Amino acid sequence: MEMDESDWRRHLGRRWAEQFGGRPFGFTVGDGWDHLLAEVFRRVDAVLEDDERDSFAWSDIKEKWGVLRMTHNGGDHIDEVVDWAEAASKRICDRCGGSGRLRSEGGHWRTRCDVCDGL
Ligand SMILES: [Zn+2]
Repeated sequence: MEMDESDWRRHLGRRWAEQFGGRPFGFTVGDGWDHLLAEVFRRVDAVLEDDERDSFAWSDIKEKWGVLRMTHNGGDHIDEVVDWAEAASKRICDRCGGSGRLRSEGGHWRTRCDVCDGL
């Protein structure tokens, strides 16, 4: 996946650098999930306790089998946000952000809308 300085992933990583231990990485998800990821970081910021802000960090953010996967070192309250986001990703086209569903094509799973299916 190509990524340059104007990439939304990079912007989000910088905006929420605190959630990456100050070292944001380029997560590999489709462009359609930009608003979803932005919402995840907002929600996590809202539930992080003061005494865990320094230690919390995402370790991996990616798409796997068509679904968003996010791993971190936080507690159950973070897992609740992640569970919500991973479930939501199954309804959001990862290409355009429209209403989508999980589809498989030749064993390759993607969450896509009708328009983006097969693209
Ligand atoms: Zn689409």
